[in-house]
Amino acid sequence: MTVDLRSDTITRPTPGMLQAMFSAKVGDDVFGEDETVNQLEEKVAALFGMEAGLFCPSGTMTNQIAIKCFTQPMDELIADQTAHVYRYEGGGIAFNSAVSTRLLNGYRGLVTADMIEPEINADNIHYPRTSLVVLENTSNRGGGSCYTLEQIKPIAELCQTRGLKLHLDGARIFNALTHTGDLAADYGKYFDGISVCLSKGLGAPVGSVLLADKETIKQARRIRKVLGGGWRQAGFLAAAGIYALDHHVDRLKIDHAHARLMSEALAACPWVSSVMPVETNIVLFDTVQPAERVVEQLAENGIQCMATSPNRIRFVLHLDVHPDQVEYTISTLKQIK
Ligand SMILES: *Cc1c(COP(=O)(O)O)cnc(C)c1O
Repeated sequence: MTVDLRSDTITRPTPGMLQAMFSAKVGDDVFGEDETVNQLEEKVAALFGMEAGLFCPSGTMTNQIAIKCFTQPMDELIADQTAHVYRYEGGGIAFNSAVSTRLLNGYRGLVTADMIEPEINADNIHYPRTSLVVLENTSNRGGGSCYTLEQIKPIAELCQTRGLKLHLDGARIFNALTHTGDLAADYGKYFDGISVCLSKGLGAPVGSVLLADKETIKQARRIRKVLGGGWRQAGFLAAAGIYALDHHVDRLKIDHAHARLMSEALAACPWVSSVMPVETNIVLFDTVQPAERVVEQLAENGIQCMATSPNRIRFVLHLDVHPDQVEYTISTLKQIK
């Protein structure tokens, strides 16, 4: 048996999704004429209580466009030190937006208004102008940890009072909503920009949607073009996204249950020194021996996963990991030496 726990990006379209893709009505999206793309953008915007959406090839692109829209060169943004926008987007904040980054020491990737406030620069020519805060929900490096909307509110209020924009990297926002029970529709009130990924847990092959007000999305469309992201008959991909939203949101709780089962099994393994509490579909755990040695042993048994640091391993659950594969993984974990 093989099990791929490296990432929730590795999923393949289901037969139903492929069918939806094959039958999509498409047009040239650069002309605004792809009705399936338009439908996806409107659908996601309405879902989150935002005015407009922009379908992009990746979460990196939606985040980078948002940062560009919400800052000017020489500004500074504030984010947790584990933030994807800072760590895993190739230095794009500096390259695309000529903006510096002030990093916070959050707890499992999550920050509070109290952490942000002292890092907002005073209006003084020595300091870069602080113009943007970026949150990540769920937090990837935090092991799928979540903010509730109650926790986000004071941050949004601070940003409003201090004239800062607030962007959400929602690569796994539906995992967060599944865990917290918060409503997507309430998110629009608190954020200036939201990046929603369709190709992680939701299982679409490609794509993220950036949400914001109409003016911002107009500017975002211009920036997407500059980045080479003006695409044509993208409706085939948008159709997969629509299908994913209609069919793959409710089942995320299954991935979360699988993650919990794995974390319980890991906690009982003598070669595991600690397991982070599981909230969503990510399991992070520390190993007594070098993580790479464990990764190799698991690979010999057909289980693929990744070391995220010398003694830390990440498992990510997704719709292509079935109950029998979870069982097989758990029984294999018990045999690791
Ligand atoms: C995967 C991910 C992204 C970027 O997504 P891509 O589509 O791979 O560019 C952004 N933020 C977080 C938290 C992610 O996990």
